[in-house]
Formats: sequence, structure tokens, C-alpha cells
Amino acid sequence: MSELDPLVDRFGRVHTYLRVSITDRCNFRCQYCMPETKIVWRPRAELLTLEEILRLVELFARLGTNKLRITGGEPTVRKGWQHLLREAAAVPGIADRLMTTNGTGLHEHAAELRAAGLTGINISLDSLQRDRFTEITRQDRLDEVLRGIDAALEASIPRVKLNVVVMAGVNEDEVLDFVAYAFDRPLQVRFIEFMPFLGNGWKVDRVIGYQEMLSQIEPRYELSPRGGHPSDVAKDFDLVGGAGSIGFITSMTDSFCGGCNRMRITADGLLKTCLFLPGQLSLRDLMRSGADDAELEQAIRATLLTKWEGHPPMDQWRQLDNLTMMEIGG
Ligand code: SAM
Ligand code: SF4
Repeated sequence: MSELDPLVDRFGRVHTYLRVSITDRCNFRCQYCMPETKIVWRPRAELLTLEEILRLVELFARLGTNKLRITGGEPTVRKGWQHLLREAAAVPGIADRLMTTNGTGLHEHAAELRAAGLTGINISLDSLQRDRFTEITRQDRLDEVLRGIDAALEASIPRVKLNVVVMAGVNEDEVLDFVAYAFDRPLQVRFIEFMPFLGNGWKVDRVIGYQEMLSQIEPRYELSPRGGHPSDVAKDFDLVGGAGSIGFITSMTDSFCGGCNRMRITADGLLKTCLFLPGQLSLRDLMRSGADDAELEQAIRATLLTKWEGHPPMDQWRQLDNLTMMEIGG
């Protein structure tokens, strides 16, 4: 195993950030994430076991991965997720241990998450209005999610971020309400441009670009831009005089592919080199056919070499023949 040889694609981008979906299941059915048609869950046997996930995390850590995000589906519906998080947190080299969740149950788990060594948490929240929240997620659980956010702050989980997908005709009128929410609390609200995935009703005219959001915010709030790293996906701003900050994930109107350092593993073990490309390599099948770590490493490196330079601009998008977002993990 070449321990000091980082994972590099053919454009010279060094890959150090691994996002692992630990389940394709979810207790929500967000309209922008799940297709309307009935979901058929994969049989459990097709998903990576927790042991297989940990083996991969350890392998990627030896290949230079220093940032790990556990996501889903909803990661907290996977039995044993707390154990996985604790074990992953103990893997040498993984300095940044993150999780993305819809916030259900968080009021009960926040302290435990802090103790497990989480270095940041992203909580999805697309509306502060109960009826609208229920319509978007198809679950009447806004109060529970808000309690979870408070609990995460009380438990002092570092870097609490709220993921807000902004969609025309759905919630673009709440941008200022979310900025006010961040102004009052030590967290970051991240406005995410609506992205196209299989069966999620995406159309170019449903995308609210970050410039449009900024034009709503700037007359009301003084923003101070934060200098970012080239691999940062967000454009971040402090709210001058406020407790929190805001950021924009501009995948649609100003993509950040040039600095991409991300790799994704789906719940059934496919390695994806880009959110918008189908899974390219079944790590699960390789592991189950007895591949050793050197063989896995070779296959991972070869797959990374097939990564494209970047996704096409928004006006050339069509609904990609891709997985649903829920299967990919955000
Ligand atoms: N269930 C967890 C949650 O909701 O945070 C983790 C998985 S979810 C797929 C990860 C993130 O992807 C969420 O923040 C969600 O808002 C975001 N997401 C899902 N569909 C999206 C879409 N079509 N465009 C932009 N972001 C999307
Ligand atoms: Fe579930 Fe998260 Fe998708 Fe909502 S965004 S349906 S909570 S996976």
C-alpha cells in the first residue's frame, strides 16, 4: 500500500474528502429529494455492513482522506450508527468528522454526538413554517427538528450548519427569515441551489440562484465575506453584528468543480467521483469477492482517473439518468 501517495485525478485534484451514505432509507420524503413514486428499499444484504464501511474508512484514511461525512438517506435510521460514528472518529488521520441529518431525534442524541467526537453537523431545514415544512418533508415534525438544533447548540457540537434548499414557488420567500434565524444563533445557514436528480421535479426555472438571494439579503444585512479554500463549496459571509453566518452552495449558477476534492460511497458500496455521475465502481462486490486492500486501492485510483473536469453548465442540464439524491447522500 502506497501510504504517502495521495489520491489524485487526471486534472491534478487531490482527493481528501470522503462522504459515505450509510443507508438509502429515510423517515422523511422530501419532495426535492425523493421521487413521487413508491420507493422500493434495497434489501439489507445489498447495503454495506458497518464493518465494510469501517474497512473502507480506514483504507481511505491511509490514502490521505482527512475529512469524513456520514450521510444517507437519513443516517440515524441505520441501526448501529452511533457505534459507527465512534469507531470512525477513532480512525487515525480523520481530523474532520461530520454528519448530515434531517434532525429527527437530535434532541436526544446531541450530547452523545458531541461525546463521539463529531467536529460538525449539518441539519436540513427548508422551512420555518409548520405547514410548509410538513408539505415539503411529508412529516409534521418541525418542532422536533427545531428542538434538535437547540440541543446541538447546547451540547456545543462544533460548526452547526443548517442546509436550506431554496426553490422557486416553494420557500424563496423565507430567505430573510432564515438569515434572521442565523443572526440570532451561533450557527451557519447554508442556502443550497436546487439540483436535478432522478424524479425530483427539477426545472431550470425552479432554481433560485445565489445572486438573487444576495439581492434580497444585502439591503437588510451587512455581510462580510470570508476567505475560502479553493476546495470549499460554499461562499460564506459573516453577518456583521450577528451571532451566526450564512453561506451559499452555488452548484447550479457558479460551480466549484475546479477545486473538487470529494469522493462518495453510496449505501450499496458504489464509489462515485461526482455527485452528478452514476456510481462507477462497486467496492462492495470487490470486498465480497475477497479483494485485499492493495486491490481495492488500485481500483479506487483507476476510477478516480475517469473523473470528469466538471459538470455542464445549468442551461445544458437535462434530468440526468442518475440516482435519487436520497440514495447518493448530500
Ligand atoms: N437525510 C439527511 C438530510 O436530510 O440532511 C442526509 C441526506 S440528504 C440527501 C443531504 C442533503 O442533500 C440535505 O441537506 C438535502 O437538503 C440535500 N438535498 C437533497 N436533494 C437536493 C436537491 N435536489 N438539491 C439540493 N440539495 C438537495
Ligand atoms: Fe430524507 Fe434527507 Fe432526502 Fe429529506 S433530504 S428525504 S430527510 S434523505
